[in-house]
Amino acid sequence: MAKKQFKAESKRLLDLMIHSIYTHREIFLRELISNASDALDKLYYRSLNDAVTGIDRSEFTITLTPDEAARTLTITDNGIGMTKAELEENLGTIAKSGSLQFKSAMEEAEDVDIIGQFGVGFYAAFMVSDRVTVTTRAFGSDEAYVWESTGADGYTVKEAQKASVGTEIVLHIKENTEDENYDEFLKPYRLKALVKRYSDYIRYPIRMAMPQSRLKEGCEGDKPEDYEQVLEEETLNSMVPLWRKNKNELTADDYNSFYKEKFHDYEDPARVIHSSTEGAATYNALLFVPSHAPYDFYTREYEKGLQLYASGVLIMDKCADLLPDCFSFVKGLVDSQDLSLNISREMLQHDRQLKVIASRLEKKIKSELFAMLQNDRETYEKVFKSFGMQLKYGVYSDFGKNKELLQDLLLFSSSEGDGTTTLSEYVGRMKEGQECIYYICGHDKEKLARMPQAELVRDRGFELLYLTEDVDEFCVRSLMNYQEKSFKNVSDGDLGLETEEEKEEAKKQEEENRDLLGFMTETLGGKVEAVRLSNRLKTHPVCLSSEGGLSIEMEKVLRAMPGEQGEQFKATRILEINEHHAIFATLQALFDGNRDKLATYTKLLYDQALMIEGLPVEDPIAFSLAMCELMGEA
Ligand code: ADP
Repeated sequence: MAKKQFKAESKRLLDLMIHSIYTHREIFLRELISNASDALDKLYYRSLNDAVTGIDRSEFTITLTPDEAARTLTITDNGIGMTKAELEENLGTIAKSGSLQFKSAMEEAEDVDIIGQFGVGFYAAFMVSDRVTVTTRAFGSDEAYVWESTGADGYTVKEAQKASVGTEIVLHIKENTEDENYDEFLKPYRLKALVKRYSDYIRYPIRMAMPQSRLKEGCEGDKPEDYEQVLEEETLNSMVPLWRKNKNELTADDYNSFYKEKFHDYEDPARVIHSSTEGAATYNALLFVPSHAPYDFYTREYEKGLQLYASGVLIMDKCADLLPDCFSFVKGLVDSQDLSLNISREMLQHDRQLKVIASRLEKKIKSELFAMLQNDRETYEKVFKSFGMQLKYGVYSDFGKNKELLQDLLLFSSSEGDGTTTLSEYVGRMKEGQECIYYICGHDKEKLARMPQAELVRDRGFELLYLTEDVDEFCVRSLMNYQEKSFKNVSDGDLGLETEEEKEEAKKQEEENRDLLGFMTETLGGKVEAVRLSNRLKTHPVCLSSEGGLSIEMEKVLRAMPGEQGEQFKATRILEINEHHAIFATLQALFDGNRDKLATYTKLLYDQALMIEGLPVEDPIAFSLAMCELMGEA
């Protein structure tokens, strides 16, 4: 029979795995046991349906059978098994999410040891075997199939005989080489130790026939000959899930390896949250804040949710209702006795108990993140780099419902130092007489520090928040204020920083130059609402500011969104002129002497203000011609 080829990607990954000089080959056992346990979970879940009969849950086991003479290790489970199609689909490709992430991690890190930290699945079997045979019969089917492969050169699938439902995997263990000892994977004591280390919490018994010495009948037991060697089946694991264990029994390593295996990550989590609660809701929760964003985190494909167990039985893999969107990056599981085992998904959504748990978890996650921010800023900053955007979206989505929850978790850049600041730190540094939290928007921090609009505020010695991400201004606008200080965009029409006298003076100036400013406004023909004398510019000649709810930066963001509705967003623009700048005297003179030229200058000033904002000049050709004409005059 012709061999089928693995898909190209799978083949590369297999090669990598088989040929790597690799010290943690032992994790193959953990991977296969974990698959067996999943298969049992699936059958367990199936058995909860009353219409399904013929499943005896008390019989669920995973069995290890080493055979030194035959050099095989057999791993058997009486789980759900696989149909022929599933066999092809599952063992013919390594395109599962975990494996793909693993592959990119390998390529990035070039660290071979990374395999050991990763859920690589079934193919890990080839790290210790030169041939693998999988015989399986799916629940509800009379047919059995055998899949066989010697590695990267492909696999075969044939019909087979199998008396009971489940899967049997026979590993033909490699011969020892000069540097590698494979025999160890045939030794009961070694296998026992591996199960203890990696699979202790698996909730089904993992059994193995262990050689034991037994006292011969009628013997006293004082001589070695009084004992005989027999094989006795022994359960190797304690079967207590990690999350049900006492916190003080567990090490960071226990948590980290559990996380990496279960949630397919190659990096340790940034924070582990393990909590048990009784009372209004009784549950154990084991949550993890990843230290980096999964590759698909900011895509539609990403599915948030926690694993949900009812009294130790997995009933849902990604229960979205347990996590608010702002914390969608959190991974983990919840195990509760309060939930009924055969609750349907639809019912679950309305379950009061589940809502109580979700609200507790939300508070818990918030307080843990806050603690991290206070006690381990460096790690928090890393986490924020990955997931801060999600927190900021969280502030402004749902009409600001979660702003109280999130406002103290936010970080921004500011004009104070190179690092980040929280809002509370900013407020703590506010100067006497400073009423507002000032911010300026734009992508480039260097540039923001030099923006003309910021001159007055900087001049007063007030700190500026640099809002460098698209979501930032929407976020602070949703907050509206923080500790009773309102947020103020430095490009806002009125900064409210002038004294009464200054206001009087400005009014007078405005009055005196009314005709000039009116002429300029008209020249710009509706592009700006008005041309005004600026009270915020100190050295710069011009800038744009906005009036009303929508800032120029927000207009940019909204317009960049896909679809046509972006067009409708337009900030009310004001062109501000610095009356103390030499150019202003020129404008005044031109108003009296040469209005054509004044019109040209007005357009040029407007174009410059656009450029400063990072907006496109509407007619670059006209701009260039006008500039050069001016230069020619010199
Ligand atoms: P993963 O477990 O990450 O999905 P694996 O490569 O380990 O990736 O396994 C691929 C798939 O093969 C599993 O998702 C499962 O559907 C199936 N599978 C593996 N082992 C078993 C088993 N013992 N019983 C039933 N199905 C299995």
